[in-house]
Amino acid sequence: MSERSTVAAALASVRSRIALACTRAGRDPSSVTLVAVSKTHGVPAIEAALAAGQRHFGENRVQEAQAKYPALKAAHRGLRLHLIGPLQTNKAAAAVALFDVIETLDRPRLAEVIAREIARQKRAPDLLVQVNTGDEPQKAGIPREEADEFIHQCLDMWDLPVRGLMCIPPVDEDPAPHFAWLAACARRHGLGLLSMGMSADFETAIAHGATHVRLGTAIFGARPPVEAGQIRSPAAR
Ligand SMILES: *Cc1c(COP(=O)(O)O)cnc(C)c1O
Repeated sequence: MSERSTVAAALASVRSRIALACTRAGRDPSSVTLVAVSKTHGVPAIEAALAAGQRHFGENRVQEAQAKYPALKAAHRGLRLHLIGPLQTNKAAAAVALFDVIETLDRPRLAEVIAREIARQKRAPDLLVQVNTGDEPQKAGIPREEADEFIHQCLDMWDLPVRGLMCIPPVDEDPAPHFAWLAACARRHGLGLLSMGMSADFETAIAHGATHVRLGTAIFGARPPVEAGQIRSPAAR
């Protein structure tokens, strides 16, 4: 099969699994947005997904997104680009300029810099606060016990357009309690969006209220094994 038809078939299969998971959870399938994670994949794969009607895409590195997406965004007005990887403060200006959703707001210094860039560029991407629900030292995200205070500060002190929360549960644990914790936290703050669930666990995430599921492998196939972008380097703080 051509790349076009492979991606189209994978998307159709993923969409029907999402619809089924929604039905099982008593939810409307239109309440879940599929974010196609295109990191490491080239423009032809992204164009194949666009041709199959996909509109939301996720990238985990600012530089890679800058290389791939400006032309695609110009050609496809409805394209919505999500940043799903850790954001360094020195790349915040570029991220605010390019992304429509930044899902990885996770520390006060970054909140300050994003607030400044939104004011300067007069462009405001939707923001999600990433919570490190497993309190994993190597993983990005605000620690669980600091999340309430941080979300409160983002909304009230920096007046940021925070719309919801995002998490990546530990790989070796049942993701369900992590999804449940994130959903309860969003409810406490009146936040509507929940980005949770990847190729391996999106059905569980939908059962717990996910509004955005981030799928790469299930749509575009396997990636090269190690991704440094998944892990926060000490310099990123
Ligand atoms: C890579 C990535 C995904 C997609 O992972 P798959 O297992 O390929 O579906 C989702 N979320 C984040 C934050 C990622 O970095």
